[in-house]
Amino acid sequence: MIDYSEVYIYSDQPTACPICGVRTEILSDLSHTIEETQIHKCLSNNCNYEFILQSENTFIYA
Ligand SMILES: [Zn+2]
Repeated sequence: MIDYSEVYIYSDQPTACPICGVRTEILSDLSHTIEETQIHKCLSNNCNYEFILQSENTFIYA
C-alpha cells in the first residue's frame, strides 16, 4: 500500500527510504508529467515502504 498522505520532495541525494534509509527502486516514473512525481519502493525486505516523490516545483505552481 502506498501512503498518499506522505509526499516527499526530490533532493540531490540518491533517494533513500524515509523509514529505514535503504536505497529504493522506482516503481513508476511520472517525472516527465506535469505532476513530476515518482513512486518509490524501499528495497529492504523488512520494510517495503512505498512512497511518493514529488518535484519541489510542483508545490510552487500548486
Ligand atoms: Zn525502508
